[in-house]
Amino acid sequence: MHTLNTLDYELNALEPFMSSSTLEFHYGKHHQGYVNKLNNLIEGTEMEEMSLEDIIKNSFDKDGKEALFNNSAQVFNHNLFWKILTNNDNSSLEDISSELKTDIEESFESSENMLAEFKKTALSQFGSGWTWLVIDEGKIKIEKTSNANNPLIKNQKPLLCVDVWEHSYYLDYQNKRAEYLDNVLNNIINWKYVSKLYKEYK
Ligand code: MN
Repeated sequence: MHTLNTLDYELNALEPFMSSSTLEFHYGKHHQGYVNKLNNLIEGTEMEEMSLEDIIKNSFDKDGKEALFNNSAQVFNHNLFWKILTNNDNSSLEDISSELKTDIEESFESSENMLAEFKKTALSQFGSGWTWLVIDEGKIKIEKTSNANNPLIKNQKPLLCVDVWEHSYYLDYQNKRAEYLDNVLNNIINWKYVSKLYKEYK
């Protein structure tokens, strides 16, 4: 059985950039909903014993397994999303490890440029989806995916993701996706955790 990952912070820890009511619904209802649906779908099947990542890879683009893919991928995507957020006091670009910084600069010239590019990509996602910082064959890249899709299906390693489904910003920002992105990217990204993931993947 899959369970809802516990958060490393309180529901109000990301305020004022992301409100506790957004967390209450987004984490407590949407994310929990994907976990529940996934558990219902795998009950009594061979998938019951599989890891989340294996379920995602085994159900992608398979006829009849769309719900399984969507729910398992959304569980993975949200697990990462909550991990790469933190309260404002713990969020600083200076926490990017020198190793990751060098590789970001190789792809984007600077961390600031990378963030600008990330925002642009996130704004260009039509409808629901995600924006990602990934390692793709050793290089740092920005990707966007629609709905539940994620970089695992392209064998890329995700370092950071931002949810651009409306449920992630509508309560706090209504239709202003750009404002949501500015607030999240500049104030509540856990660069220590992103750097730790990078080190693990390398
Ligand atoms: Mn979401």
